[in-house]
Amino acid sequence: MGISVQAVFKQFGDFQALNNVSVDIKSGGLVALLGPSGSGKSTLLRSIAGLETPDSGRIFLTGEDATDRSVQDRNIGFVFQHYALFKHMTVRDNIGFGMRIRKRPEAKIRQRADELLDLVQLSGLGERYPSQLSGGQRQRVALARALAVEPKVLLLDEPFGALDAKVRKDLRAWLRRLHDEVHVTTVFVTHDQEEAMEVADEIVVMNKGKIEQVGTPAEVYDQPASAFVMSFIGPVN
Ligand code: ADP
Ligand code: MG
Repeated sequence: MGISVQAVFKQFGDFQALNNVSVDIKSGGLVALLGPSGSGKSTLLRSIAGLETPDSGRIFLTGEDATDRSVQDRNIGFVFQHYALFKHMTVRDNIGFGMRIRKRPEAKIRQRADELLDLVQLSGLGERYPSQLSGGQRQRVALARALAVEPKVLLLDEPFGALDAKVRKDLRAWLRRLHDEVHVTTVFVTHDQEEAMEVADEIVVMNKGKIEQVGTPAEVYDQPASAFVMSFIGPVN
């Protein structure tokens, strides 16, 4: 499902979090929203998800105006930095939660949960509780849970932000592989240039509530559109 954000503004008090943001995200892509802290990345992601309402502007999903649709009616899965797994539920029940509230038959839920456990390479861990998993494993459960209801779009807000460097690196490669397998349109937020360059097909660079540049990692690196992009993406000093 493609995403089109058109002239979106969002203000919190007198702070302009999104300042005339327009961007098109192709169906099936793996896109990074990259920018420094406070640049509006989460606000943009949350607006796409329906968790924030733009002050003005429109958001289209599959060519249809979804600006006024509820979160539930957008067919979107999301994962945040701090894994919000249910502590008292097993991994399998965490993954099945969204299907269960949609009243899918138990046998189907079980089957799909097992497929997803396989997909995120956690088969055999379905009966564990979140406290018995590593941080990286928990984030993979969160991803499996987001994918369980077959969303058309997957939104990830700094999904690996809370993890240590080694685990982050493993998960990057793993996200790339997962995407190549599932092909769901995926937008992930990061403030880490290297992460964006390594994982994404396309990078959306944000600064101060505006989009500075949209391009492939090579384009953004070789032909920075502004002094900001050059300093933010350029060789680490
Ligand atoms: P980023 O994800 O790039 O760090 P955000 O989109 O979270 O940036 O936010 C940009 C700024 O907008 C934040 O620094 C904060 O000052 C403000 N902001 C975000 N959400 C809220 C909110 N719910 N209420 C008030 N201010 C907010
Ligand atoms: Mg953020």
